[in-house]
Amino acid sequence: MKALIIVAHPDDEILGMGGTIKKLTDKKVNVKIVFMATGIFARRSETYSNSARYDIDKKLSTKMNKQVKSLRNDVNKAMSILGVKNFQFENFPDNEMDTISNLQITKKIENIISEFNPDIVYTHNPHDINVDHKALYHATLTATRPSKKSNIKEVITFEVPSSTEWDFSSNFSPNIFVDISKELPVKLKAMKAYKNEIHDFPHPRSITALDSIAKRWGSVSGFQAAEAFTLVRKLQKTV
Ligand SMILES: [Zn+2]
Repeated sequence: MKALIIVAHPDDEILGMGGTIKKLTDKKVNVKIVFMATGIFARRSETYSNSARYDIDKKLSTKMNKQVKSLRNDVNKAMSILGVKNFQFENFPDNEMDTISNLQITKKIENIISEFNPDIVYTHNPHDINVDHKALYHATLTATRPSKKSNIKEVITFEVPSSTEWDFSSNFSPNIFVDISKELPVKLKAMKAYKNEIHDFPHPRSITALDSIAKRWGSVSGFQAAEAFTLVRKLQKTV
């Protein structure tokens, strides 16, 4: 089985489904993760005025490139903790994917799908405050539309603590719960690899909060700890 995980930013994959990823790699499922945006904010200079043209001076550009490199080192560490060997980086603008056409993002995802040919695709939930997360949900939904050529049987969305729950007007309503009782310590360890993304409690991206969220979903589903997902679509040939 092949599982494709499409995320906006490095750390989304851990926050949303780090324990499930560990379960998948332990089961020798062929997992590929694609990080669509750089994960580094402030592409624009401080003198930026509303224009489609990026205006980054050399100093800012050098600083950003350093930050991107450092973040990608963290990704390498997190991937090795989770046993993921296949991952790739795209360079969509961080926190500005709403400025890119849905068509452009969809085409990129379609190319990734046609190369990898996944059975199952995971991505962001539409009930989310982050514009990149929302853009990816819609593009993924388009890119995974059923066709004769596609092998995709399931499309599933995950939550991202510090983003999904802050979209106060809408609700993430999970209907899939994965038991991560055994994998929770590995999830938290992988999250610690993202040293600049971890905060102190009560921030949702704190170890205490992530532990509590896993236990909260566990209490909903009868497990010691769980990750929660929403099934978007399931296609089956047989019953
Ligand atoms: Zn994100």
